[in-house]
Amino acid sequence: MSEKPILVMKFGGTSVATLDRIARASKRVAREVANGYNVIVVVSAMAGRTNELVGWVEETSPLYDAREYDAVVSSGENVTAGLMALRLQEMDIPARSWQGWQVPVKTTGVHSAARIREIPDANIRAKFAEGMQVAVVAGFQGVADDNRITTLGRGGSDTTAVAFAAAFGAERCDIYTDVDGVYTTDPRIEDKARKLDRIAFEEMLELASLGAKVLQTRSVELAMRYKVKLRVLSSFEEYDPEAGTLVCDEEEIVESKAVSGVAYSRDEAKMTLISVADRPGIAAAIFGPLAEAGVNVDMIVQNISEEGRTDMTFSCPVGQVARAEQAVNAAREAGHINFRELVADKDVAKVSIVGIGMRSQTGIAAKMFEVLAREGINIKVITTSEIKISVLIDRKYMELAVQALHDAFELEKA
Ligand code: ADP
Ligand code: ASP
Ligand code: MG
Repeated sequence: MSEKPILVMKFGGTSVATLDRIARASKRVAREVANGYNVIVVVSAMAGRTNELVGWVEETSPLYDAREYDAVVSSGENVTAGLMALRLQEMDIPARSWQGWQVPVKTTGVHSAARIREIPDANIRAKFAEGMQVAVVAGFQGVADDNRITTLGRGGSDTTAVAFAAAFGAERCDIYTDVDGVYTTDPRIEDKARKLDRIAFEEMLELASLGAKVLQTRSVELAMRYKVKLRVLSSFEEYDPEAGTLVCDEEEIVESKAVSGVAYSRDEAKMTLISVADRPGIAAAIFGPLAEAGVNVDMIVQNISEEGRTDMTFSCPVGQVARAEQAVNAAREAGHINFRELVADKDVAKVSIVGIGMRSQTGIAAKMFEVLAREGINIKVITTSEIKISVLIDRKYMELAVQALHDAFELEKA
């Protein structure tokens, strides 16, 4: 028997939130089976389940053992994988579930933020050869060399899906979610957001890493590297082979605006070390311990120094403030750094504009700052790269900033 082409279909939490929705998703899978594919389905946990599991872990053990955290939070996906396989069997489609370790999805040992190293395809291919038509894989999870269960970070099922598409040379990787594609910004905070038919990998990568959670950043990186045909579409709309947003190479995009999207990240914090002794090695002495403590430092600003002292500001996720304070204070006690005061501002958010068109157009930053000024929004920190500009502002202005920028750069217009 000749091998059938393979399709990867990933269903996010809201798409498998109830038994009815699992049934609906299964019908989509059945359609692709009827179209002649062997399907690898990747499922998330039911909506809200992962948060609940994380809550249970934190309540039981505030400074939890990360290996047990992974053991607990990975379990949500096991439930949906089994249920989806059962539903498909009820529809007379030969299907079975696979937990990460059964494939096995081999990962690094960095618990709660593991990376996929390898996905051997032999087991699943052998089953396809025996007539199985659908492999339902529990997303978000894998197994480390020491045989412990790992998870891939929040939103990690997207990455599982793309990694399977790469490992199996799938024809396409379809990410079914609760919006019908990638928009110019989060449609939940801007009704004028416009769905994009296509978006370049580079832009999607920036949007994802700047907070647009529609795709996990790592999944976009993998798709770009392994040339996976990646599509985002709704699991609630009627079937349409042209639906959704295709994430593709820049060359395949006709539309070229300076700015293609606006992203935001709500839960940021700004920390400032006031009056640090300014000398060679000072940045290393501050950011080394922060990195060791697992703090994800994002923006960094060092002020001009006066009389050998300066202020150093950085941003990090608001949930990591306590850890950051601990690391910096320990470095001070050990005599590695010396500062007057550490000030944490926990009420900030990051808003960013992204576009490959910025490479060739000037004045985009000036326009962004003008728009924010007109709204009376004070900018606390700025960072830029070739295709994005990010600002840190008071959290209460976040929605306003996103909407004002979306308007000013006319993103609602094609
Ligand atoms: P899933 O559970 O299917 O993985 P997620 O909640 O992780 O879904 O991601 C989908 C959500 O991403 C949408 O509901 C939307 O609110 C949000 N989102 C943020 N930015 C964007 C964007 N630019 N385009 C589309 N959705 C976005
Ligand atoms: N269930 C996991 C989460 O909520 C993984 C995922 O849905 O992608 O983060
Ligand atoms: Mg997601």
